[in-house]
Amino acid sequence: MNPPVPSRLGLTAPVGGHARIPKSATPRVPPNLTDYDAACRDFSWAGARALLDGLPDGRGLNIAHEAVDRHAAGPRADRAALRWIGRAGERAFTWRELHDETSRVANALQGLGLGPGARVFVLAGRIPELYLAVLGALKARCVVCPLFSAFGPEPIAMRLEIGEADALVTTEALYRRKVEALRPRLPRLRHVVLVGEAGAATAVRDTLDWQRLMQDASTEFVIPRTEPEDMALLHFTSGTTGRPKGAVHVHEAVVMHNVTGCYALDFHPDDVFWCTADPGWVTGTSYGIIAPFTNGVTNLVVEAEFDAQGWYDILERERVSVWYTAPTAIRMMMKLGSAALAGRDLSALRFMASVGEPLNPEAVLWGVEAFGMPFHDNWWQTETGGIMIANYAAMDVKPGSMGRPLPGISATILRRDETGGVREVSGPMQEGELALKAGWPSMMRGYLKEEVRYAKCFVGEWYLTGDLAMRDEDGYFWFVGRADDVIKSSGHLIGPFEVESALMEHPAVAEAGVIGKPDPMAGEIVKAFVALKPGFEAGETIRRELLGHARKRLGAAVAPKEIDFRANLPKTRSGKIMRRLLKARELGLPEGDISTLESDER
Ligand code: AMP
Repeated sequence: MNPPVPSRLGLTAPVGGHARIPKSATPRVPPNLTDYDAACRDFSWAGARALLDGLPDGRGLNIAHEAVDRHAAGPRADRAALRWIGRAGERAFTWRELHDETSRVANALQGLGLGPGARVFVLAGRIPELYLAVLGALKARCVVCPLFSAFGPEPIAMRLEIGEADALVTTEALYRRKVEALRPRLPRLRHVVLVGEAGAATAVRDTLDWQRLMQDASTEFVIPRTEPEDMALLHFTSGTTGRPKGAVHVHEAVVMHNVTGCYALDFHPDDVFWCTADPGWVTGTSYGIIAPFTNGVTNLVVEAEFDAQGWYDILERERVSVWYTAPTAIRMMMKLGSAALAGRDLSALRFMASVGEPLNPEAVLWGVEAFGMPFHDNWWQTETGGIMIANYAAMDVKPGSMGRPLPGISATILRRDETGGVREVSGPMQEGELALKAGWPSMMRGYLKEEVRYAKCFVGEWYLTGDLAMRDEDGYFWFVGRADDVIKSSGHLIGPFEVESALMEHPAVAEAGVIGKPDPMAGEIVKAFVALKPGFEAGETIRRELLGHARKRLGAAVAPKEIDFRANLPKTRSGKIMRRLLKARELGLPEGDISTLESDER
């Protein structure tokens, strides 16, 4: 059995505890969740469900009704629902307009024979038609799968095949570049609908024109009876090996999307919310589409990719009040320094959150320095469908911690025993696998056609997340690493994240990725790959300085023994550092599935 790991993650910690950033004593608006313990005690899923309307006449629960139609029929009908900042223009939709346009989509799909259960894939950049297609397809009770538009032809074709796509909504340019040549491989794909350049009509063989379909479709559509357990969304996630897995989500997931928007993102009626994730990833759907709409806040969508100054312009000009982004972007902004924000009026901004990979304590603290408030880290996965663990507006933030479980969510730390069973660890800051008690509304209902893989995720009532974590004496959770990324060196279990965080504290380091490298003596040694900030030069001097810095912070047993420099680290397109790829390359092993690889630094 592994020895318990002492509390090494609290990098800014005073002896005997973790550093805290106290909750705001004078919040601009009272947080939705004011007393965490009371909220947990009083929470019920029935109560969360009651925050939604359900379809009229008891016809069930449909995500698109909660996101669009109920607001279109209420006092928010003429308020801004979707505000789109395109590369070459802007558009806005009120809830009434969103209702009409998504009803057109639903009618058009139905007219093509795409009814309940039909699989509709959407492959597009962040253009308004993507949002209309997703919501319209949900109205028609189709199953929607948004695909990331920067995927190459092969990953797209593979996902369309595994997901048994009946229809694809995409743009003319993407179709020609990425789908047309592989279409013969996809006999099941009956309809391809193309959005032309800047929404103009198209005429490509074997495809339909979005504009014509919309023109001819009615703006009235009655959502058919929808059972909460009806399949609604399909999200692909890459394992470390094997084919991408299609996680199945149902309409009932909207209960979670809605309540997490309220508690973890602290949505209030006048908010302008910006989720920087692309809907090709689960964050960009659950929180880039569904949660802001169900909560009735204005959802800002930005077509362009990351650019720090461009993002600051948007935060300022659009008066963004709640901002949900990711560690990679935060680290890139940190690289530029807080001086880049000088003179900006960001007075509308009141809550910042981050998800997707571990958020280094340095990054949380930089939020305070640069924006006057911390980034609130939260944790979840494609499989969980919604935020599970979070730092809340009305709770002290411990930099480096993912926060505490959402009311209604039971999370724990488990260790497997020799018989294949599991037991909960006793006592604080003991490392084990992060597990969640099954049964929350947005839990995946399966991996498409992979029952064995799905069954392996559960032991008894627990869903095993595949992440290693610790829980402290106050119930805050601390991320250690993916179970398959963890390093075992001379009997010590070492999470790559804590080593990366220690390196990130050094002013020269922009990014760090840490792996275990096989070693005859130690089993594995810790090896770090580091990207330096502008103005620092790779070489022996800085290597020695970083090794010394890490030894001082972490101790000799945990500090890296080797450091290599890279211009960039390989990342997934959703911004996660691909440690397994760093490792495969270091060891000359096959690189495995790299369909999600974004930047290749070799
Ligand atoms: P995905 O299913 O692609 O969204 O990836 C989920 C995985 O990302 C989790 O299992 C974690 O390994 C990682 N992750 C997401 N959010 C966090 C976070 N706040 N801290 C640490 N790891 C995270």
